[in-house]
Amino acid sequence: MPDFVIDAPAVPSVAVAGETGRFPVRRVFCVGRNYAAHVREMGNDEREPPFFFSKPADAVVDSGVTIPYPPLTRNLHHEIELVVAIGSGGARISAPDALGHVFGYAVGIDLTRRDLQDQAKEMRRPWDWSKGFDNSAVCGPLVRASAAGHPSGGRIWLAVNGTPRQDADLSEMIWAVPDVIAFCSQSVRLLPGDLIYTGTPAGVGPLQAGDRVTGGIDGIGTLETVITAA
Ligand code: MN
Repeated sequence: MPDFVIDAPAVPSVAVAGETGRFPVRRVFCVGRNYAAHVREMGNDEREPPFFFSKPADAVVDSGVTIPYPPLTRNLHHEIELVVAIGSGGARISAPDALGHVFGYAVGIDLTRRDLQDQAKEMRRPWDWSKGFDNSAVCGPLVRASAAGHPSGGRIWLAVNGTPRQDADLSEMIWAVPDVIAFCSQSVRLLPGDLIYTGTPAGVGPLQAGDRVTGGIDGIGTLETVITAA
């Protein structure tokens, strides 16, 4: 270890289902648009190749942790997503090889300050402030691919206070997990600890303080988070 001049930051991490050991998080990549119905609800063209943005690794927060309503927004949105955890790295990974790089999968929520994102789009500014704020990457427990396999289908859903908001199937993803990994690794060398949020289906919407958010993916698990007052 180098002789740091302040205390080194803690390594962000997410839980692993049924294990005491945790998965250390290196980076968080997110696919912008990956379900046709959500692309349409946001007013975009569904035939585009995937694009990526990122969140700070320490934006990751476990399922079950309460999240204060974040600052600077009046339109905090939920986006339920399949999260891919990279276990072995590589650059320019081919789609047929991609699944061999996966440690496991989780249910996640890409929390979004939609009003700031709308403003950023309008003003041609970066998305960082709308996507990469504190606690913006909720992540349920990872299940190892060796136990759960590699999901290419299955229900993905989110409810707010028990009322369904998002309900779709992983098979509706425009770019499946192997393609997402292949595209992402064209741009950066993926490394162990990287998480990839693979995009959200239609039905995104606002959250208020006091809301209890639940979500799940068949065969992967569930998550729950409560939004508290700012
Ligand atoms: Mn998203």
